[in-house]
Amino acid sequence: MTARVVTEAEPAFDTEVPVAIIGAGAAGLVAALACRGAGVEPLVIERDAVPRGSTSLSAGLIPAAGTRFQAAHGIADSVATFAADIQEKAHGCADPDLVALVAREAAPAIDWLADAHGLPFSLVHDFDYPGHTNRRMHGLPSRSGAELVDRLRQALEQAEIPLLTEARVTTLVRDASGALRGLVAERPDGSAERIGTRAIVLACCGYAGNKALVRKYIPDLADALYFGHPGNEGEAVLWAEQIGAELRDMTGHQGHGSVAHPQGILVSWAVIMEGGFQVNLQGRRFWNESSGYSEAGIAVLAQPDGVAWDVFDARIAGIARQFEDFRQAEAQGAILVANTPEELAAKAKLPPEAFAATFAEVEAMKRAGAADGFGRNWSRGAPLAGPLCAVRVTGALFHSQGGLAVDAAARVRLADGGIVPNLFAAGGAACGVSGPEASGYLSGNGLLSALALGRVAGSGAALVAQEVDETDG
Ligand SMILES: Cc1cc2nc3c(=O)[nH]c(=O)nc-3n(C[C@H](O)[C@H](O)[C@H](O)COP(=O)(O)OP(=O)(O)OC[C@H]3O[C@@H](n4cnc5c(N)ncnc54)[C@H](O)[C@@H]3O)c2cc1C
Repeated sequence: MTARVVTEAEPAFDTEVPVAIIGAGAAGLVAALACRGAGVEPLVIERDAVPRGSTSLSAGLIPAAGTRFQAAHGIADSVATFAADIQEKAHGCADPDLVALVAREAAPAIDWLADAHGLPFSLVHDFDYPGHTNRRMHGLPSRSGAELVDRLRQALEQAEIPLLTEARVTTLVRDASGALRGLVAERPDGSAERIGTRAIVLACCGYAGNKALVRKYIPDLADALYFGHPGNEGEAVLWAEQIGAELRDMTGHQGHGSVAHPQGILVSWAVIMEGGFQVNLQGRRFWNESSGYSEAGIAVLAQPDGVAWDVFDARIAGIARQFEDFRQAEAQGAILVANTPEELAAKAKLPPEAFAATFAEVEAMKRAGAADGFGRNWSRGAPLAGPLCAVRVTGALFHSQGGLAVDAAARVRLADGGIVPNLFAAGGAACGVSGPEASGYLSGNGLLSALALGRVAGSGAALVAQEVDETDG
């Protein structure tokens, strides 16, 4: 893979656009809509034939505080509480200015996408996500990221924003003064297109699809299943190194410990948070599952054979069924169902006595409203009642959370101070708000950064393009 930054004395281009947006996942598509809304027509450049990105693999859930969707459910939430939740999960290590920015921008972004672009969001109101004080996850009807990308792309079509597909950006072009002037995109037939521009938005996600970079920054998961989009090969990081941009929290990432195995289907963490639990192949619990699903990745991979079983019941399955992924897992026979713990153990080939003892311990702790030795507080967990369910899961790497540090306008910061005035980053390309550890990832941090920063970056890039216009004029 090549990712280069070249300097040319007098760069010439095949075509000129006011703003170029690299990547057509949630971050790029939202940036494009915001740019257009600010009066500038951008060009979105996407390596795949059909934009999908990690966004399409996600559940498409976006946290936001203070939306009208929360108000409709009588939920009073605030930006300050949201920001405090993000920072608490990140162990106080996330960039406080960035946390304040995304927490503030999330609700306006959701309301704007719903009102101006017709995305039919609703609130996930029937279960809690770990670390969120209030119910604030917003999703589309199918609760799938594929629907999010599709609807954003439709909004792009309606706004008549051009999208260049099968064009992989390999090179950023600077002029002799060091100013960023354009880029080069490679086409499948080997030809190259040189596109001049006044501002660039990096929306090409993180580096989790690049084995060498994963080995460098997240060695614990170098050999783990990568569950994100294979095209996220870290060009933004490699360009950043060449232009001296600041890279921050590079070891941060989102893992997950509930991917149905071997089916490879995401099983919502709702099955755990609603009163379910995880056991290893010995039928024993091994950690505090309520800490979060991101750190679950490493916790599950550390168990024998790198697998575990999620154990829950039919009531919880009813809640999880709102997710397209869960319905698919059921359709593929990944979810085992039984009437008693003993029968479930037999179906899952777990040691029956150990499993029944674990099951009884969990239910006793729920009755007592007690915390267990791992630190999980059971006072909120409803008892599990038959039919019982179980699914075999493994741990996976979903996406990187470290990336290019940006300022309050989503402009890329330089390592030795200052900014690149016409280079913006959003979504997985930018440093997120999870700090340097997997356990710092609060549910929804990924799309939060894509939507909130994408919108800020798109408007900021439009402003730069307009300023250049005025200077020229
Ligand atoms: C299974 C899974 C479930 C998840 N669930 C959630 C969730 O429910 N909520 C949440 O907040 N987050 C979730 N995430 C994380 C979330 O999906 C990402 O954080 C988010 O989609 C990143 O958006 P993006 O636009 O930055 O990247 P992407 O959606 O990956 O888009 C990047 C695009 O850039 C393109 N691209 C890459 N390089 C180039 C190049 N050189 N030239 C041109 N194009 C390029 C790619 O092809 C891709 O289309 C999940 C992730 C996974 C993998």
